[in-house]
Amino acid sequence: MKCKNTKKKALSVLLFIFLVFLQPEMEEGLVIRTTGSWYRVLLADGGQRDCRLRGNYRLRGNKQTNPVAVGDHVFFELQDDGTGVIHDVADRKNYIVRRATKLSKQTHVIASNIDLLCIVATLGLPRTSTGFIDRLLVTAEAYHIPACILFNKVDLYDEELWEIHNEVKAIYTAAGYPVYEISALEGTGLDEVKQLIAGKTVLFSGHSGVGKSALLNALSPGLALKVGDISDWSLKGKHTTTFAEIFPVESGKWKVESDAAAPGNLSSFHFPFYTYLIDTPGIKEFGMVDFNAQELSHFFPEMRALLPKCRFANCTHRHEPGCAVKEALDEGLLSAERYKNYLGILEDIETDYQRP
Ligand code: GDP
Ligand code: ZN
Repeated sequence: MKCKNTKKKALSVLLFIFLVFLQPEMEEGLVIRTTGSWYRVLLADGGQRDCRLRGNYRLRGNKQTNPVAVGDHVFFELQDDGTGVIHDVADRKNYIVRRATKLSKQTHVIASNIDLLCIVATLGLPRTSTGFIDRLLVTAEAYHIPACILFNKVDLYDEELWEIHNEVKAIYTAAGYPVYEISALEGTGLDEVKQLIAGKTVLFSGHSGVGKSALLNALSPGLALKVGDISDWSLKGKHTTTFAEIFPVESGKWKVESDAAAPGNLSSFHFPFYTYLIDTPGIKEFGMVDFNAQELSHFFPEMRALLPKCRFANCTHRHEPGCAVKEALDEGLLSAERYKNYLGILEDIETDYQRP
């Protein structure tokens, strides 16, 4: 009897060892670029590998068209030819999406695990509307990404533009968003921006011509991104790829004082003293896919606080009696500009939902 048990034990130990050895050895890394079916993965030692996705990899649900996006932390098996096969993707802290095609409800993940959204805007040319800024801010709120606004081209500001700038700045500061004044061309304010983004994964977004490439180049001169001809953006828009890309920048030189750089706050995959700049060339709109009209006011932080005081739980804050948002607006406690943009986005969402 005893002998039988020992045999059994020995067999299970053998089986265990066998299974452990059967498991392929996994390496891990951060996806920094995607091109078709290949993924460029950055390793912890600074090296890079081209990886493909395991053939039978299952998509999580069928709402998203791409299972792996830049910013993803992946586990892959190294092949003899030096490429890798991705077996698994770590859970995402957050991600942003765009529609896969103009009319579809399917989404495409643009980037994941973002610490900060920097909206690049300008009151110079081509001027950014607050409507554009608010759409990006709403997206950031919906996807739980902290956001700030960088007003670029301040070298072009005259007295009148500074006046407008200060009004706009007051609106966003009141809503809780940090505002920075910068000039990618002259280097104004860039030290502050470096301090802000040190050690973080930062998504830069703004419409074409605003100076996003010039800014990324100024933050990391090695990038040498193509800076558009001013005539490019107005008519055709630039002909660029629509894939997001991550540029790792060694930020050891920058003073890393941000929370994100504190050891306890690093995601398992953050290399200390690295900053990841995410560029989204050619991607004009994102977000605005997954949420409904009822949720929208929750994505305006200054409105969020008022919502419990509205008489109706399903208040749209348009014309309902006992609406705390309208009251705050009448008392000048809420920005009329932000409210106007809220109504504009609300209308867009509603028409969108009526689409076949
Ligand atoms: P992107 O489309 O957002 O990537 O914009 P680009 O970086 O290609 O810049 C568009 C145009 O704006 C180029 O002509 C740049 O030289 C110009 N530009 C960028 N930053 C500044 C700035 O801080 N001041 C001024 N005056 N022009 C700028
Ligand atoms: Zn209301």
